[in-house]
Amino acid sequence: MTTPMMKQYQGIKAKVPDAILFYRLGDFYEMFGDDAELAAPILQIALTSRDAGEGKRIPMCGVPYHALESYLIKLVSSGHKVAICEQVEDPKMTKGIVKREIIRIVSPGTLTESISERSNHYLASVYYDVQWGLSFLDLSTGEFTIFQTSEADVLFAELARIKPAEILLPPELMKKTKQWSGYFCSLRDRQSYHSSVLQQHFPNQAPLLQEFPAAALAASALWEYLLETMPGVNPSHIVEIKTYRSEQWMFLDQWTRRNLELTESLRGQGKKGTLLSVLDSTQTALGGRLLKHWIDRPMLLPEAIEQRLNTVEALTADSFFRQDLMKILAKVYDLERLMGKVSYGTANAKDLLSLAQTLGLLPELRSLLASGTVEILKVKIPFLEGLDPLVEKLVKAINPSPPLSLRDGNLIKTGYSQEVDELRSIASGGKEWVARLENAERERTGIRSLKIGYTKVFGYYIEITHSNAHLVPADYLRKQTLSNAERFITPDLKDYEQKILGAEERLKELEYELLLILREDVRAHTQSILRVADILAELDVFVSLAEVAVRNRYVRPQITRDGEISIVEGRHPVVEEMLEAGVFVPNDTQLTRDHHLAIITGPNMAGKSTYMRQVALIVLMAHIGSFVPAKQAAISLVDRIFTRVGASDDLAAGQSTFMVEMHEVAHILKYATQNSLIILDEIGRGTATFDGLSIAWAVAEYLVQRPDFTPKTLFATHYHELTQLQDDFPRLFNLHVGVKERGEDIVFLHKILPGRADRSYGIQVARLAGLPQELLQRAKTLLLELETAKPVPSLEDSSQVVTQFTLFDVPQPHPLLQEIAQLQLEDMTARQALQYLFDLRDRLQATEAM
Ligand code: ATP
Repeated sequence: MTTPMMKQYQGIKAKVPDAILFYRLGDFYEMFGDDAELAAPILQIALTSRDAGEGKRIPMCGVPYHALESYLIKLVSSGHKVAICEQVEDPKMTKGIVKREIIRIVSPGTLTESISERSNHYLASVYYDVQWGLSFLDLSTGEFTIFQTSEADVLFAELARIKPAEILLPPELMKKTKQWSGYFCSLRDRQSYHSSVLQQHFPNQAPLLQEFPAAALAASALWEYLLETMPGVNPSHIVEIKTYRSEQWMFLDQWTRRNLELTESLRGQGKKGTLLSVLDSTQTALGGRLLKHWIDRPMLLPEAIEQRLNTVEALTADSFFRQDLMKILAKVYDLERLMGKVSYGTANAKDLLSLAQTLGLLPELRSLLASGTVEILKVKIPFLEGLDPLVEKLVKAINPSPPLSLRDGNLIKTGYSQEVDELRSIASGGKEWVARLENAERERTGIRSLKIGYTKVFGYYIEITHSNAHLVPADYLRKQTLSNAERFITPDLKDYEQKILGAEERLKELEYELLLILREDVRAHTQSILRVADILAELDVFVSLAEVAVRNRYVRPQITRDGEISIVEGRHPVVEEMLEAGVFVPNDTQLTRDHHLAIITGPNMAGKSTYMRQVALIVLMAHIGSFVPAKQAAISLVDRIFTRVGASDDLAAGQSTFMVEMHEVAHILKYATQNSLIILDEIGRGTATFDGLSIAWAVAEYLVQRPDFTPKTLFATHYHELTQLQDDFPRLFNLHVGVKERGEDIVFLHKILPGRADRSYGIQVARLAGLPQELLQRAKTLLLELETAKPVPSLEDSSQVVTQFTLFDVPQPHPLLQEIAQLQLEDMTARQALQYLFDLRDRLQATEAM
């Protein structure tokens, strides 16, 4: 490497100290110095070194330019940023060093290559000033959203929902909490948080930005980051900033999302075993992403829910129409991401054809909707119009099987441009001319094996084998000698070569330019294309919900506001799919304002968790506008669903199992309202028995004590003592899961029945799990001893215990303490005081012995 180039490299590298610089050198992106040492092992490429001038050598490694994407993804997914530096001048036209510039900085949040089709990929930005401001952008689709809240918990729940690939933060926020752990965070200077940059791009959205100042500042830092990482790009597909208000959506915290396995299973990151997997029969990536959104954000506006339900219902009624729609949707490409590529200037001819192919389905779709039975969908038709001329143009212009590269020609169809046709005929006509010349020269020389060939280095040549060397005419000029032949040129051949090659070069350039013009044509239709994308996504989700409803025998839920949840023969949508047909046992649910907390007992494995989650999922499905797995369901609007399920450590956030559990319970008690649904699957299991029982007891009481606070609650527990609460609190009732005893074994009936379970059957379940026989025998003996020797005080019998468990009663001080408080110590001698102390001890010892 020459010193001037090294200087140029260092100048560019200084601008991106936190990124690995891919420095374009001919057909390679080279990395130098520390970057090379860092990247080589990750990319599994050889680390070499190169002369850096003045006798110094620096480490170096490189990747071929055409394989950029795979190397980029490797580095970014291992948590690095990559700055791509290109040659921005034609080396042939430049004297000295070629000008180079960074054209893109790729970080986890700005990566658009190889990201999941069916979920969004967000770059988020957070700001805090009185309120928490959040903004997030999916660069691949153009979805740009802001949100503001005063609660840190709400902010982190939103982050857990959207799962950003990268979060931008001012440094002081990073220090504020440990909850950023698990996210890829990029710190941004305070100066990045100024809203003018955003107002320039979105002048019509000034009122929105003013309404949410903290979110607007978060969004402006995000926008600045975007401009910095993609210099020169016009992100035309990001057409508006949207917001949402918490009142419109059911709020789900991160634990509830996880526990209910809405879009990710508890066991892994996959979709299998989730509600999404059951409801997703979408045909398009657009629909797949939208359905995920719907599940992630159930609605609270009854009119909006009813509207969705009306559409699903209409679609369930006409299976032929549904099938026809699905056939069209199956041919739809990802319009949002294609428009993203158009916007970044990376869309190639194939992408434009995919766009044209998708938009070309619109006439058929319009007439299907117009002739169909689903009136609600007919209003969409006008939004699917107006793009036919663009489609026609694209189809007329683009070669049906174009190459991936835009620079290699073969992009434009014959008949679209006269100039292209002319150049093409010269280029191909030239080839015919070569063939004619070959024949003529064979005749002239009498060499039958004479061949005219072409190489990139030598151009056209005439090849003659050594055995025919004596027949070579005098006007042939020798160019190259091979082992068995010689290559010649003639002035005629060279003249014509210039003409053909010139035409080919010009043709490639012209085709490239025409394609860019077509791409700009598409860009000019961004708004209408994105609107079509929205409609296609929505149609796809509706059809999918209807299809699943029919296939799985779901019913339309009735949405009410009477505070009651009434489900007849409800089923768990995921568990029922995993079991053989007809095996799942349906169960009823009745939660009212007067009867709003159910204590559910029953052995392990009986089906308590399944039942409670099934209620939560049915309620949630109703709120997204889906039919539900039941025979009948009337669901009153629920503002939040809370779940507290199972035991898990959050060691990353420095919390033990019990601490996590208590944190979740505290969260529920703080935020639950009159209209919430709470699922408590065991409380107090992670600590000593009596501590746990006391906490569980107090929580149950807390939830049924206030007259104006009637959150619908399902509370499964192995603390059978809690069933006694029914006697004191009429709004609390007992349910249990039925089992049958068969000798030493039990049979699970999975049926939810009124009343309390008589026993725990823990040892029987342990037997089913295969614990050793002698261990089971010992456990039985111990159980008997524990149950007979030291019974847990009956809470009804012991006023003392009730006092201990009642949260709001002020505890009475011990009588001895009252006595001490009344002592006239001033009037006592030291001896009398000592004597009193001895008496006290004796009295206490006598009480303990009783
Ligand atoms: P634990 O107290 O140990 O948490 P549990 O009572 O919560 O147990 P679940 O986990 O709900 O029990 O259910 C155990 C298994 O029983 C489920 O995985 C499922 O296979 C089956 N099951 C649950 N409910 C039903 C049902 N209604 N119909 C058929 N099978 C069911």
